[in-house]
Amino acid sequence: MLTHEKSEKTYVRGRDLLPGGVNSPVRAFRAVGGTPPVLRSASGAYVEDVDGNRYLDFVGSWGPLILGHAHPEVVAAVHRAVDSGMTYGAPCEAEFELAERVVAAYPGLELMRCVSSGTEAVMSAVRVARGATGRDVIVKFSGCYHGHADHLLVAAGSGLVTFGQPSSAGVPEAFASLTRVLPLDDVDQLEALFAAEGHKVAAVIIEPLPANNGLLVQRAEFLERLRELTSQHGALLIFDEVITGFRVGKGGYAELSGITPDLATFGKIIGGGMPVGAFGGRRDLMENLAPLGPVYQAGTLSGNPVAMAAGVATLDVLEQTDAWRRLEELGAKLEQDLAPVLESAPVPARLVRQGSLFWMSLQDGEPPRSAEAIADGAAGVYGDVFHNLLEAGVNLAPSAYEVGFISTAHTEQDIELFRDRLADAFASLSG
Ligand code: PMP
Repeated sequence: MLTHEKSEKTYVRGRDLLPGGVNSPVRAFRAVGGTPPVLRSASGAYVEDVDGNRYLDFVGSWGPLILGHAHPEVVAAVHRAVDSGMTYGAPCEAEFELAERVVAAYPGLELMRCVSSGTEAVMSAVRVARGATGRDVIVKFSGCYHGHADHLLVAAGSGLVTFGQPSSAGVPEAFASLTRVLPLDDVDQLEALFAAEGHKVAAVIIEPLPANNGLLVQRAEFLERLRELTSQHGALLIFDEVITGFRVGKGGYAELSGITPDLATFGKIIGGGMPVGAFGGRRDLMENLAPLGPVYQAGTLSGNPVAMAAGVATLDVLEQTDAWRRLEELGAKLEQDLAPVLESAPVPARLVRQGSLFWMSLQDGEPPRSAEAIADGAAGVYGDVFHNLLEAGVNLAPSAYEVGFISTAHTEQDIELFRDRLADAFASLSG
């Protein structure tokens, strides 16, 4: 048994200071029960808590750490940047260096702007879309997450009309009423919506590889039809690549799918672990932004030199080491090694994987492609498996619907350790 005395004490005190003891809700372990380890350091593929327990980590701070924790070149770049000042609020070379790399890598992206989170990136991209088209309606898909801006915390309403309903208290119905919510993987409903009100749609936003409600790999035909319909109706297509950007490959899911969106949003990896987001796309659309055009958007810390340095260093190491090939190798090994463990598990279980993103789907049949296809209660045993793994020194996301992240700091031995611990966890379930 690991000791968690210090973690528990710290966290219990933290609950008097932060709502739920956290600054972002999923960290509070509500979906799996118990209290989270309080972390004090991290290096490579491992994190360490305040009691000195080490965990093999597949959370990777939810995606940014594609090179692992505290990668030496990223850390060195941050140190160099800090020595020259924390923030200027004026143009700096590092922001042009980051932009140069993103513009060169991402299909159809000509101009971009940096912000400080994925939420901000999405919020701003939607504003550009509305400003550029002069339309108000936006379309999203249930099961996709795009951050916590008001008009995107919206769930499907009931009935034939797909007016959205707020999915959070504090979101006015009036805001939600401008958002339509469709199921993924359903071309008929998509066509029906465009037939009814395609002329009102400013933009359709989608995670082209939805990775926030399991990993819901989309059919190529669905994404292609989405591209066609948006173009035909003068609506913009926004790919939210906050997770997938520089993760599934250098050109994100746009490159992988061969589908070029009008606008795209980024976060996580492009900040190398610092608070960074970005949005960009076609020049004519992005020129609507202030100071060139009428769409206002700004940020005191946008393009922060320290954060930019972390992002640039991360993208450079990715490119120089051809990291995506290595990540695919590790991902393929994970898939192969876990297959027999999942097959003989006491509950239905299979691995869904795309490169270095993986998800354990705990239900029978084909992997789901939409939120609606995820079976009720499929995640019933996840909490037990999760805690069993944590006690054995393996850190997965504390929710059955979050994906896992492999980094270049993981080794073959790490994958094998995960395989063995997972087998033990399943064995103790049936025992
Ligand atoms: N879009 C997607 C696809 C995301 O996964 C996330 C966060 N996980 C966001 C937007 C919001 O990013 P942030 O948490 O940095 O605001």
